[in-house]
Amino acid sequence: MTLKLANIKKSLGDRREVLMQRIARVKTGMTAEHSADWSEQAQERQNDEVLEAIGNESQDELTQINRALERIETGDYTSCSNCGKDIALKRLEAVPYTHFCINCAE
Ligand SMILES: [Zn+2]
Repeated sequence: MTLKLANIKKSLGDRREVLMQRIARVKTGMTAEHSADWSEQAQERQNDEVLEAIGNESQDELTQINRALERIETGDYTSCSNCGKDIALKRLEAVPYTHFCINCAE
């Protein structure tokens, strides 16, 4: 594994940690007991919706990260899923979740 690839792998791993912590926090925030007060309940529901949106977004990103890490493990990370050619490392540094080389992405 090249140094650049190792760096990408490390930053994906770091990002993964951040997202997993965020998702855990969202889950704790949402499972909190609801208030008996109606107006407070409405406020809580709004908070839940915001939390849910953050949670879903984080979950999507986490899925992409896991896929990228899997591709690094199997050695497929630097080959394009479409044409099989190498994806430039510069491109992977900029868009670490991509499966496609610059030609196929366009
Ligand atoms: Zn390609």
